[in-house]
Amino acid sequence: AKEKGGNTFQLYYQEMNHRSLEQLNLENQLRKALDKSEITVFYQPLVDLKTGSITGMESLVRWKHPQGMISPGDFIPLAEETGLILPIGNWVLRESCIQNKKWEEQGLPLLTVSVNISVNQFHQPGFVKYVQQTLSETGLDPHRLCLEITENVAMKNVSYIMDTLSKLKEMGVQVSIDDFGTGYSSLNYLKRFDVDTLKIDQSFIRELTTDEDNEAIVTALIAMSKQLKIKTLAEGVETREQLEFLIAKGCDQIQGYIFSRPIPPEEFALLVTNQQNL
Ligand code: C2E
Ligand code: CA
Ligand code: CA
Ligand code: CA
Repeated sequence: AKEKGGNTFQLYYQEMNHRSLEQLNLENQLRKALDKSEITVFYQPLVDLKTGSITGMESLVRWKHPQGMISPGDFIPLAEETGLILPIGNWVLRESCIQNKKWEEQGLPLLTVSVNISVNQFHQPGFVKYVQQTLSETGLDPHRLCLEITENVAMKNVSYIMDTLSKLKEMGVQVSIDDFGTGYSSLNYLKRFDVDTLKIDQSFIRELTTDEDNEAIVTALIAMSKQLKIKTLAEGVETREQLEFLIAKGCDQIQGYIFSRPIPPEEFALLVTNQQNL
C-alpha cells in the first residue's frame, strides 16, 4: 500500500510539473503577445431600448494565438496572476479610444466605448493620470469613454475609490458597475459612488422568463436604479421574451446575442452604418 501511495504521489507530481510547464509556456507566449500584435479587441453593441439604436459598444479583448482565437476567460485570469493585465489592460483602453475617435472622424454617429478595468488596473498608481493622458493623446471626448468596474474594486480602500471615481467623473468619464449582483455588493456603494450605469449580470437575465426569483430581482434592480437616477443595462439578452420583459420594466439598454455577438471593428462599423436595416 505504501509503494502504491508513492507511485500515486509521483504520478501526481509529474502531472503537476507538466501543468506548471504548460502554464509557464502560456505565460511566456502571453508576455510576447502584445509585441507580436496578437492582442486585439472585438466590439459588442450596446442598444438603447427607447430608440432601438446602437449608442455604444463594449470592447472585449481577444488573443489571436497562432493556433486559434483565445477568449478572455482563458487568459485574463493568467494575466491577472502574472501582472500582465496592466500592460494588456492599458493597451485595450488606448486602442478603444483610438478606435472610437477614428469612427467619429469617419462620420459614424457618436458612440460611447465601454472598457473593462480590472481591479489591479484600477488600483495601479497613476491610473487616473493614464486615463487622462490617453484621452488627450487620442483626442477622444471624455464623455465618449465609459469604464466598467466590478463591485470587487470596492473591496479594497474605500477612500481611494471615492477619490479615483470623483476624479474620473470630473474629467467627464462615465463609470459602470459590471456584473452587478454577483460580487460582494453593498447597496451602500451605489449611494456613495457616483456611477452612471448598473450592468445587470447575465446570470439574472439567462433564466429571466423561467425563474420567478430572477424576475423579481431584475424588476427590483431596474426600479431601484430609476429612483437613484442610475441607468440600467441588461447583459446577455438572447431571447425575444427577455427583451420584451426588459422593455416592459423600463430597462434603459441591452447587450446580447439577440442583437449581435462581439465582432471585429470593421464589422462593427458596418453594423452601425446599416443599423436602420436591423
Ligand atoms: P464581461 O465584462 O461580463 O463581458 C461580457 C461577456 O458576455 C463577453 O464575453 C460577451 O461575449 C458575453 N456575452 C455578451 N452577450 C452575450 C449573450 O447574449 N449570451 C452569452 N452567453 N454571452 C454573452 P467575453 O468576451 O468572452 O469576455 C468574458 C469576460 O472577460 C468579460 O466579461 C470580462 O470580465 C473579461 N474581459 C474581456 N475583455 C477584457 C479586458 O479588456 N480587460 C479585462 N480586465 N477583462 C476583460
Ligand atoms: Ca464588462
Ligand atoms: Ca458583465
Ligand atoms: Ca460577466
